[in-house]
Amino acid sequence: MLKRIYLLVAAIALIAVMVTGLVSFDVISQYNDQAAHRYLTSMSKIAASELDDGSDPQQAADAALAAFADGSNNLRITIADIDGNVVYDNQADPTNMDNHADRPEIMHAIRTGTIGSAIRSSDTVGEDMLYLAIVSESDMVVRTSMLLNAHRSAIFSMIRTSVIVLLIVIASLALAGLLLVKYITRPLSSLHEAAVAMGQGDLSARVLLPEDNENEMSRLAQAYNSMATKLQSAMEELADRKARLDAILDSITDPVLAVGERCAVTFLNAHAKVVFGRSIDPDDAVYPLVLITHDPNTEKLAEEAMSSQQTVSKELSLNTEQGDIIFHVTASPLKGSQNIGAIITFHDISEARKAQKMRSDFVANVTHELKTPLTSIRGFIETLRGGAIADRKVADRFLEIIDVEAERLHQLINDILILSEIEQQTLDKEAEKFDLNSLIDEAAVLLDDKAVARDISIIVNQDIEQLPVQASRNRIKQVLLNLLDNAISYGKEGGKVYISAIRQADGMLELTVRDDGPGISKEHQDRIFERFYRVDRSRSRDAGGTGLGLSIVKHIAQLYHGQASVASEPGAGSTFTIMLDI
Ligand code: ADP
Repeated sequence: MLKRIYLLVAAIALIAVMVTGLVSFDVISQYNDQAAHRYLTSMSKIAASELDDGSDPQQAADAALAAFADGSNNLRITIADIDGNVVYDNQADPTNMDNHADRPEIMHAIRTGTIGSAIRSSDTVGEDMLYLAIVSESDMVVRTSMLLNAHRSAIFSMIRTSVIVLLIVIASLALAGLLLVKYITRPLSSLHEAAVAMGQGDLSARVLLPEDNENEMSRLAQAYNSMATKLQSAMEELADRKARLDAILDSITDPVLAVGERCAVTFLNAHAKVVFGRSIDPDDAVYPLVLITHDPNTEKLAEEAMSSQQTVSKELSLNTEQGDIIFHVTASPLKGSQNIGAIITFHDISEARKAQKMRSDFVANVTHELKTPLTSIRGFIETLRGGAIADRKVADRFLEIIDVEAERLHQLINDILILSEIEQQTLDKEAEKFDLNSLIDEAAVLLDDKAVARDISIIVNQDIEQLPVQASRNRIKQVLLNLLDNAISYGKEGGKVYISAIRQADGMLELTVRDDGPGISKEHQDRIFERFYRVDRSRSRDAGGTGLGLSIVKHIAQLYHGQASVASEPGAGSTFTIMLDI
């Protein structure tokens, strides 16, 4: 900009000088021509008066020349009669000269009796000359002439000198201007470079301060630098805050999403990317919420929050990378933000819902399991009351059944109590040191009658005499009894049941109970550890089972940081393996 102004001023100055030169040349030329006119007039008049006084042409011309000649031989004087015949010329021989009556200046002077003048190029010299003619009282024509160029070149050289001086002045001014422009534009260029660098993201770019600290440019540079410093620290603080906020949002184990207008996702925390399997950068692409959650209900919820400016929530089952998950979805409007938006959090309540369902299933199962023996007991009591009591034999059979059902009821309540006790327990408070081998023997003895009744032999495999463990004796006894009881109940009549306990290399205790019964098919193997799950309900009932035995085993295994599993092939028996950290 400054350079353009500078060039414009220089051009105007140059034109002004040229115009001034030309105008001066014209004015001075005119003035000079007038002076030449006056000069020749005076000279002619002297010659004319000399002629009138009776001098001959030569004398008259000499007198005039003597009065005016500057020795430059520039002046010419021609004297002719009234008819134009030349009688004298100071620079030529009159006898060789033609008649001058047709010369415009002479013609004019003869015709008007006043001064005639003309400027034309001389035939003799070939340059511009001023011709002036007057008629004397003695009717002689005096014509004087002089070269104009001699004067003009003098003016020209004068003007040339002035122009050169002016040009030198202008050149000096231009140089000074150039230096000034450089002086002014250097900090401006630096300012421009710093602004461009900052625009491209380099917030550390600063303007080089001029040496002169007091001028406007320096103050501007200082103001710019201080603004840049403030901007840089503000941006750094902003980036720091954003990083902190991102870290906080990423550390939240629930998926968190933010949406803007038309439910376009503007933010996802790390967990949302994992759960929904979408690693998108909202700065790069507009991504509708429904493409992430696969459920238009989430968009509806976000829109409701945005339009009502209230927090709204809903329970939704969403298909995620980790399978179907039940979420408690909460959408809150982004208050204080200029743009419309909402923040959506997804709290996984699958486990809570599963536990809730398990509880209600359990209550339903318990009610059902309790009802069955109770209905049976009440039925037989009714029958007895109705007269069956009179028949001693029938009464005894009915009382026997009532006793079995009451025992089942007792067993069931017992198992439910054990289960609820273990479920609430995370630490074994009754841990004691005892020999597991003797406990296995004890359990085998306790179930011996039942085994004998089905002609089953219990084979205890013990490599070592003692197997010391640290645990609750009652709980481990429960595990052994439940497994052995099942093996005897569901094993082959006349078959064998093997039990063994081995300390593994990693310190875990492996307890195995194997039978040679019909086995359990694959589809039931995972489920038999669930509460009240039975492969064959009537068989379990006949065997006096409650459907809780294996569930209790599994929970005790978990209490001792282990697990319970079964390996079985239909027809080839079942092997229950319990791993325990005891
Ligand atoms: P229950 O009181 O009915 O025995 P459990 O929880 O102990 O309940 O066992 C669940 C189910 O697993 C049983 O009803 C039975 O169908 C099956 N089961 C358990 N042990 C065996 C086994 N050794 N052989 C075959 N089936 C078994």
